[in-house]
Amino acid sequence: MLKDKIGIIFGVANKRSIAWACAQACAAQGAKMAFTYQGERLKENVEELAGTLDGSLVVPCDVSDQATVDAAFEAVKNKYGRLDFVVHSIAFAPKEALEGEFVTTSREAFRTALEISAFSLTQVALAALPLMTTGGSIVTMSYYGAEKVVTSYNVMGVAKAALESSVRYLAADLGKDNIRVNAISAGPINTLSARGVKNMGSLLSYVGEKSPLRRNVTQAEVGNTALFLISDMASGITGETIYVDCGYNIMGI
Ligand code: NDP
Repeated sequence: MLKDKIGIIFGVANKRSIAWACAQACAAQGAKMAFTYQGERLKENVEELAGTLDGSLVVPCDVSDQATVDAAFEAVKNKYGRLDFVVHSIAFAPKEALEGEFVTTSREAFRTALEISAFSLTQVALAALPLMTTGGSIVTMSYYGAEKVVTSYNVMGVAKAALESSVRYLAADLGKDNIRVNAISAGPINTLSARGVKNMGSLLSYVGEKSPLRRNVTQAEVGNTALFLISDMASGITGETIYVDCGYNIMGI
């Protein structure tokens, strides 16, 4: 399905990362990928995981530092010469902003959360554009807290709302170049970032009970949906937020 396709994956921290599940699904269909890591702390982890896949490249990239974003895409250009897809699976908010009341969010926490979790999609889309010479697909990760209040999700919900809106504006801009942009709204999954959200344990058990499928979603299910959105099977889909949450979002009372 993705034979000869080249991708770049932002957001692998470890084997539990949603980004890693996306990469595995794409690799199984023949894609070759570059992986970014943020900071030396994660370098070894990412190199070890990426090393299990043929033809991979590992490059540092902190989206708060434009020079590292430019360097990452330059490295992709040098190794592969072009790009077909981007998986954007990164988010960050200061820990103190993910507890207590939203009304106390500081200017700095708001700025950081929006910059790292939402603006970075536009930033990487612009950098990817010159390499996507025959079209492409960009997929990002959102969450239900973008549209409904989820206790403690706070400023990250606001950032995800900005992210989903960015998906629509980017899709409108890039459609003429046959580049599609979509978000996956994933149900809660126990990953490194998720542990930063207070009450994640109770959120997982609540959603696991109340969702139509009576369970939580897995990384692999999100990865398979990313594969679908990246592949030509989704050639008519852009600007959408697709729920992969065992149906939780459809429930009322
Ligand atoms: P992970 O912690 O595995 O992945 C998050 C990644 O974002 C990490 O690799 C992290 O690196 C990276 N990151 C943070 N700040 C930056 C930065 N400045 N520059 C580059 N990379 C950065 O968690 P998930 O796999 O859960 O998260 C992936 C995405 O999925 C996020 O957007 C998250 O909001 C979203 N999502 C997660 C859900 C869940 O329940 N887990 C549900 C719905 C959506 P580092 O560790 O160094 O900070």
